[in-house]
Amino acid sequence: MRKILIVGAGQSGLQLALGLQSQGYEVTLMSNRTADEIRGGRVMSTQCMFHTALQHERDLGINFWESQAPKIEGLGVSVAGPESQRVIDWVGKLDGHAQSVDQRVKMAGWMETFAQRGGQLVIHGAAVSDLDFFARTYDLVMVSAGKGELVSMFGRDASRSPYSVPQRALAVSYVHGMGPRPEHPEFDAVRCNLVPGVGELFVMPTLTTTGRADILFWEGVPGGPLDAFQGIKDPSEHLALTLELMEKFTPWEYARATKVELTDAGGTLAGRYAPTVRNPIGRLPGGGLVLGVADVVVANDPITGQGSNSASKCAASYLSSIVEQGDRPFDEAWMQQTFDGYWNTAQHVTKWTNAMLGVPPEHVLNLIGAAGQLQPVANRFANGFNNPADFENFFYDPEKTNAYLGEVAAASAA
Ligand SMILES: Cc1cc2nc3c(=O)[nH]c(=O)nc-3n(C[C@H](O)[C@H](O)[C@H](O)COP(=O)(O)OP(=O)(O)OC[C@H]3O[C@@H](n4cnc5c(N)ncnc54)[C@H](O)[C@@H]3O)c2cc1C
Repeated sequence: MRKILIVGAGQSGLQLALGLQSQGYEVTLMSNRTADEIRGGRVMSTQCMFHTALQHERDLGINFWESQAPKIEGLGVSVAGPESQRVIDWVGKLDGHAQSVDQRVKMAGWMETFAQRGGQLVIHGAAVSDLDFFARTYDLVMVSAGKGELVSMFGRDASRSPYSVPQRALAVSYVHGMGPRPEHPEFDAVRCNLVPGVGELFVMPTLTTTGRADILFWEGVPGGPLDAFQGIKDPSEHLALTLELMEKFTPWEYARATKVELTDAGGTLAGRYAPTVRNPIGRLPGGGLVLGVADVVVANDPITGQGSNSASKCAASYLSSIVEQGDRPFDEAWMQQTFDGYWNTAQHVTKWTNAMLGVPPEHVLNLIGAAGQLQPVANRFANGFNNPADFENFFYDPEKTNAYLGEVAAASAA
């Protein structure tokens, strides 16, 4: 059977490894950390995944935590006014539920499953020189190592990367003890709180190593008041600052958070990165070719919560391209075609995410405001997180937005 090497055991690498393994491929997976190191380490994401991405996991039978993880049935948007009051507040219902399973739980569990099923798991932080050797001994080498150093093998695609520096400073805290949302506490929801000119606070339930928890995630405009976490090493200091900023900018969320405590010593994360699209094919010094996967080739800012969703969609798309190729070579033309197939969906994620990082134009503010009065608009916006291609129909072009809002208003009046 064909031999495939996957470097990097995150959402995309593990999903691909388990999918290929179940189809009888001889898969080697290289990870720079053991399952125990991942499980006992620091949180890596907020990893909220929507219906389509979750369905890819179900299709492979690897949705092991679905019954334990909170089912996120809604997506709410609040906008803060100048006095930190809530000037907009609505919640859209998702057609299919979303879920967040702490990557420490999921990646550690999936790695163990891969090994138990007879997969070759190599614990090693791969360098370019290693890949040079392996490219000669495997039919295909894929790099799914996230935003780490190996991206240097893949040239930046400037035409698809409008930003060259990070657009948000990120600060995450996993907590126990969060109070329920006062409105619609009967179902779980992600709450996106927009503080114009300052940043965004996302709050969502998750399943972590210690059971159900909530995530508090600040995205701060660089140089602004939320860009204050760099250099903080002490997790309790990180949480204290998170809460202080919530009290100041989003007091309605702070009101639920007065009794919270960190889930564990690894429950905080701070950092930033520039959203970047790269050329999908890496050329090794010895002439071999490797194919980039998910964040390696398309890394978006987490403001729209799409990276894990995209990693799942990329893995599903690459899996079918590999299987379709049968015994034919995984050559440069196939690699390009494989990436292009993924880019058909990924381009919508990149366009929408980059738009959300900018200052919203008036028609977008009107759309977000109208969703407070028109429930179908709130629902459609919420479901766009599952299928960002739909934003083409009502988000970017003022004429389309106005036409859409007119249609919904007329239908509601009737
Ligand atoms: C703060 C934050 C919040 C986020 N929130 C969301 C969200 O709500 N929803 C969402 O969909 N996405 C979210 N994302 C994005 C999402 O986490 C990533 O896009 C996703 O994990 C990417 O998957 P991946 O498989 O490409 O890479 P990763 O998940 O990054 O996995 C890469 C793996 O490769 C390993 N590795 C690195 N270098 C090497 C090497 N040289 N050799 C071997 N192994 C190596 C790493 O240790 C890691 O295990 C968020 C990201 C951040 C930072």
